[in-house]
Amino acid sequence: MIPDRRFVILGGGTAGWITAHLLERAWPGVSITVVESPDIGTIGVGEGSTPSLKRFFEIIGAPEDEWMPRCGATYKAGIRFVDWSPAAPWRDYRHPFTTQIDVHTEDAFVLNCRNRRLGHDVPVRPDDFLLNGVLSAKGLTPVAPPNFPFKIEYGYHFDAGLLGRYLRERAVARGIVHHPARIVSVQRSDTGDIAALVTDTGDAIAGDVFMDCSGFNGLLIERTLGVPFHSFADNLFNDAAVVLPTAMDRPPPVETVATALSNGWCWSIPLEHRFGNGYVYARDFQSPDAAEAELRRTLGVDDSVPARHLTFRVGQVARHWERNCVAVGLSQGFIEPLEATALHLVLGTVEQFIRHYADGGFTDRHRTAFNTVSAQRIDGVRDYIVAHYKLTTRTDTDYWRANAANMALPEPLLHILDRWFRRGDLSEELTRQGQRSHFGNLSWHCLFAGYGAFPPVSEPKRPDVDFYADRGIGTFLAGCSLNFTSRVVR
Ligand SMILES: Cc1cc2nc3c(=O)[nH]c(=O)nc-3n(C[C@H](O)[C@H](O)[C@H](O)COP(=O)(O)OP(=O)(O)OC[C@H]3O[C@@H](n4cnc5c(N)ncnc54)[C@H](O)[C@@H]3O)c2cc1C
Repeated sequence: MIPDRRFVILGGGTAGWITAHLLERAWPGVSITVVESPDIGTIGVGEGSTPSLKRFFEIIGAPEDEWMPRCGATYKAGIRFVDWSPAAPWRDYRHPFTTQIDVHTEDAFVLNCRNRRLGHDVPVRPDDFLLNGVLSAKGLTPVAPPNFPFKIEYGYHFDAGLLGRYLRERAVARGIVHHPARIVSVQRSDTGDIAALVTDTGDAIAGDVFMDCSGFNGLLIERTLGVPFHSFADNLFNDAAVVLPTAMDRPPPVETVATALSNGWCWSIPLEHRFGNGYVYARDFQSPDAAEAELRRTLGVDDSVPARHLTFRVGQVARHWERNCVAVGLSQGFIEPLEATALHLVLGTVEQFIRHYADGGFTDRHRTAFNTVSAQRIDGVRDYIVAHYKLTTRTDTDYWRANAANMALPEPLLHILDRWFRRGDLSEELTRQGQRSHFGNLSWHCLFAGYGAFPPVSEPKRPDVDFYADRGIGTFLAGCSLNFTSRVVR
């Protein structure tokens, strides 16, 4: 049933427009207004996705050959981590998006990881066991021909500014109202709910449900309703980024590269028309000027190309849905972008909201259930990102040494680490935790194996059995990869 309520979305960043589209698809004809300030603008970064963005475009019925060329978009099969561990052979590894066909190989990967934990010297590079890893290594686009019998999962790289414009135009064409204005105050009703947003020209935009997509501003959820923010800074030190584009000088690769630098890491995201690059670092350890200089050196870019500096905070609001306001996007929380999960969380948040709202409207029970799930999903991603910093073996700067020494780890992560290093059943532990995170058993195996993080053994044992060789995984995946080509352009 279509709610007899007016939805007002504050913010026209990617979160605001994704929210508008999903609400409109769930309840066609419902009243939706998006208010955004042209002078404040959007954050303008966030150019890598997980496969959930593919699902989003399917839901809103936007075909790839329409939206991808408009947004300079390319295909993404996963992420490659470089220089997070100095020791060969762990200097780089891939975390590919898992896909349907991996059902034939994941067992061998998990079993080899188990044997490696028992001290057997068997292959465990995630890239070699999962189809998207093999495709990335060969530079093949993860788009299967129509007769390929398995569904292939992939994400995208895209220009954030162009995507925002595309989504706005499409939303307006579907009847969503776009109201460009800066909100200067908020009216509350007698009950304390939000009643209207007041613009700088004195208009009051009234509504029944307010979606706070105002970015790090958190204008409604935090600054109006006073919901506290829980910081993750104890676990995640990075709080700034410097961003620089470079020319696209070759066919775009099908993966994001995340390269560890002296005080953080740098992303390289291939679009059709440029690479987006950004160094994510911790200001407690490196100044913005030094970070910019390091990024320029790394990329070989001189001062003629301007850099953009950003700061951010990591953590989440204590309640994502408070009274008649739901926070979506950066206003609900942020974990640094190492696995590019922010838009994935946006989608999940709006879909959860729609489900809970449809089930129970504005009852406390549904609001509480929504808040619990939202917090767990963000915590789950946090634990995985924190694990990167615990498993890396870099100790060459104070930053990496501080990460190695940091024992303020979240409880669920401690259990996961304990289970792994005690050679226990990781999948059982994840199930016990009821993990609602984006990262399942296979992703955790990629993380541990990618860093070569295994219980120490005095002398590696000769393998009893190597499931990679015995099951012919290499030949199988090489055969599968013959179905894919190097360049699919929409
Ligand atoms: C360094 C960095 C890298 C990132 N990389 C990735 C990535 O690879 N993948 C990924 O998924 N995510 C990434 N993210 C996160 C991603 O950028 C955001 O999740 C995404 O862009 C959504 O942002 P948003 O819409 O919540 O906020 P914003 O883009 O900041 O939009 C906020 C909106 O609110 C409006 N607004 C604010 N205050 C007012 C007001 N008073 N009146 C009217 N309007 C107002 C603004 O005008 C704007 O339209 C990254 C973030 C950072 C910081």
